[in-house]
Amino acid sequence: MTYSFDQARECVLREVNALCATEPARLAECGDRVLAEDVRADRDYPPFARSARDGFALRAENLPGKLRVIGEVRAGETFERAIEAGEALEIMTGAPMPDGADAVVMVEHTRRDGEFVIIERKLEPGENFNPRGIEAHAGDIVVRAGARLGFAQIAALAMVGRECVAVHARPRVAILPTGDEIVEAGEQPREFQIRNSNAWSLAVQARRAGAIPEILPIARDNYESTLHLVELGLESDLLVLSGGVSAGKNDIVERVLADLGATFFFDRVLIQPGQPLVFGRAREKFFFGLPGNPASTMVTFELFARAAIERMSGIADPPLPLMRARLTRDFRHKPGLTRFLPAQLSADGSTVAPEAWQGSGDVAALARANAFLVADADRESWKAGDDIRVLVK
Ligand code: AMP
Ligand code: MG
Repeated sequence: MTYSFDQARECVLREVNALCATEPARLAECGDRVLAEDVRADRDYPPFARSARDGFALRAENLPGKLRVIGEVRAGETFERAIEAGEALEIMTGAPMPDGADAVVMVEHTRRDGEFVIIERKLEPGENFNPRGIEAHAGDIVVRAGARLGFAQIAALAMVGRECVAVHARPRVAILPTGDEIVEAGEQPREFQIRNSNAWSLAVQARRAGAIPEILPIARDNYESTLHLVELGLESDLLVLSGGVSAGKNDIVERVLADLGATFFFDRVLIQPGQPLVFGRAREKFFFGLPGNPASTMVTFELFARAAIERMSGIADPPLPLMRARLTRDFRHKPGLTRFLPAQLSADGSTVAPEAWQGSGDVAALARANAFLVADADRESWKAGDDIRVLVK
């Protein structure tokens, strides 16, 4: 089955659901995890009408005017007496508004005169303080199930007193490199051999997506070796293979998977690099057979396997990290395939330049690049200054 880029992504998102397992995680450990419960406000926020400025709490209708200062309230204190007409209470940011006041004038807009404060401007009622409950009411959801817990979400959990929350279990992802020519990164290859770089790029990508990666030994291009390691890999939540899915006679990954009773959702996607890309399910586990060229492996993981891992981790709508930038020079390609080419995105994200490279095996160029240019399948040429899509690394 051959799919376009969009069809293939839709297929992955349609097939893969969140894993059922959840686990408790404490505040210190739950950064970047995916929340598995709705977290609600334990009380109103702010819990009291709270001044947003250093200044004076007063009645707006008394302005402009000269008001008697009846005392001071700081953050962490309360002031028991109500403000009467013609009075003001010195107040600090974060302190509770006294009864009877309906606005705060900033200290910068006042002049002190003994026990009085002089304010020459007007204010509307409600200025410079947050009424109780305006941010959230007790019982409102402050962080939804399915949210990735970034620093702001962690702050919200801490705010409502949730030191421990339920998060989705991280999927375990088996990474299986294949190829007779591949040796481990720590080995000295003979001149016709190459080191296993894909397992290491995939491990980083899998961890970033929220998974626990496990790198399996290199499968050799024979049936027994591949079968044994594929069976081992299918014990994880997701199996990601690199190599062995092209049309060559030693590309036996699909045969092994078929013999294990696999369902194949697609085995070709109209993208480059990465056309011979396999996605399926065997022994109730999903697998991706990614083409072995390092650029293909990286790009297809970002586009498809990452979405699968994010779905398994409990994220409903995995985002594709695409943005737009202006090309620094004219660019053309042969339409028909969506192409992903190593590129340099400027530090401010406004412009993008294609990186010189020698094709999908050029790991040095991939290491220099900080992004991929995305050339749409239905467009042939772009002029310098045109907008183009960019996949951020
Ligand atoms: P394949 O998809 O197996 O035909 O491999 C395509 C190309 O990617 C070949 O040139 C392989 O040598 C290379 N390749 C395959 N696996 C790896 C790997 N684990 N690390 C680096 N390069 C690889
Ligand atoms: Mg191979």
